[in-house]
Amino acid sequence: MSVLWTSAEIAQVTGGAETVPFETTGLSIDTRSLVKGDLFVPLRDARDGHDFIDAAAKAGAAGTLSEIDVDLPAVKVEDTMQALRALGRAGRDRSNAHRIAVTGSVGKTSVKDALAVMLAAFGDTHKSARSFNNHLGVPITLATLLPNAEFAVFETGMNHAGELTDLSKQVAPKIALITNVAGAHQANFDSIEAIADAKAEIRHGLADDGVLILNADNDYTSRIRDQATEHRIMTFGTGNDCDVTIVASNHHASGGNVRLRVEGQQIDVTLAVSGQHWDHNAAACIAVAHALDLDLRKAARALRDVHASDGRGDTHEISIGGKSVTLIDESYNANPTSMRAAISAAALRSGRKIAVLGDMYELGPDELAQHAALSDPLEAAGFARVLTVGECMRALRGALPQAMRALQADTIDLIAESLHDEVQDGDVLLIKGSNATGLGRLATRLKGEG
Ligand code: ATP
Ligand code: MG
Repeated sequence: MSVLWTSAEIAQVTGGAETVPFETTGLSIDTRSLVKGDLFVPLRDARDGHDFIDAAAKAGAAGTLSEIDVDLPAVKVEDTMQALRALGRAGRDRSNAHRIAVTGSVGKTSVKDALAVMLAAFGDTHKSARSFNNHLGVPITLATLLPNAEFAVFETGMNHAGELTDLSKQVAPKIALITNVAGAHQANFDSIEAIADAKAEIRHGLADDGVLILNADNDYTSRIRDQATEHRIMTFGTGNDCDVTIVASNHHASGGNVRLRVEGQQIDVTLAVSGQHWDHNAAACIAVAHALDLDLRKAARALRDVHASDGRGDTHEISIGGKSVTLIDESYNANPTSMRAAISAAALRSGRKIAVLGDMYELGPDELAQHAALSDPLEAAGFARVLTVGECMRALRGALPQAMRALQADTIDLIAESLHDEVQDGDVLLIKGSNATGLGRLATRLKGEG
């Protein structure tokens, strides 16, 4: 494993003092996911990370940042959060990787992961882990960037105004991509326009000669375009005037084909991920390849290897009470846009369809109406039964035709029990809800992993 940072470098970058020299091969702020050789970064959050330095040592940390004297080899700093940011800046500045920042209301992780698969065909590629897209995730991703990487893809997220300006300045990307603007994480905003403006902040860190890539089919793109007058803009979408035009597509249960046109060149993408929303995700990836001047056919071929990220549409053949069921695991998160995308992707599958749907959080004042409004797409997609979890989902349950209403429950145990009675051999089961509804645990349990 390559050395990520030596303690001398860490001390120099952070203005700290090393106690005993050490070398790290990774970095972690959480001892539960820390791996041997990591630098532990104890942050003062809900709990004080310094309380976990012993645990970090046990888990194999090579050393730690610390504001206090500790037994583990350490670089002593005044403020571990500031030190992490400084390491992030240093990680960025010593690297020549092309940096790409991805934001948007929906599809950030999906596109970030797809981009990383595509770019890996061209050179060493670093990416944000999972949805590490905030004031912690971004400096962690920067600080773990190895100097030899050629590409680095950063997921950047926000739930209040001003946040993306900071994150984007940290990344200082060459390419910034906004997947779309929709009503997600909107509790801190009065309007979707305000969300669009907050997404548009991604331009603030963009290199002067950088490219801002926008989804031309999104209602708020013109608003963002009007603000981003200082950068080159590239678009993807269904319009003929887009830089990357989605010409045609077809989707089936386990994948799809998307025909794109870029400067008169036809680019066919074959996907092993399913759902119409992949038209735009694939087009977004090709737009990045185009902005980077890469071979587009090679980029398109690489996209064949994209698989759904965990909990974002990955499918599993499982058994529930001896009955064979295809599980579509969408349990990672949910908002109205991604719910609709997942429901229509499920509709591509043959077999009776059942859904377990959990509350969508952070929707703001009309949250109940937004839950109830899912009744129509569920019916149109031919769902036979819908089990619901959470207070807001009661509104959906009330809106569903009687025959589709199944159990409403607040615990995963009750839902799991009821599923045994509900499912039939050959069913397709969609599980989706906001992270904190616990549906991820249900999916994990059904997959027999825990
Ligand atoms: P978070 O803000 O929670 O990090 P995210 O923006 O990273 O979310 P993803 O995790 O990539 O979003 O996707 C969430 C869900 O949205 C996926 O499970 C999928 O159903 C759906 N999805 C992915 N891409 C799109 C898209 N372009 N348009 C609509 N829905 C999408
Ligand atoms: Mg994400």
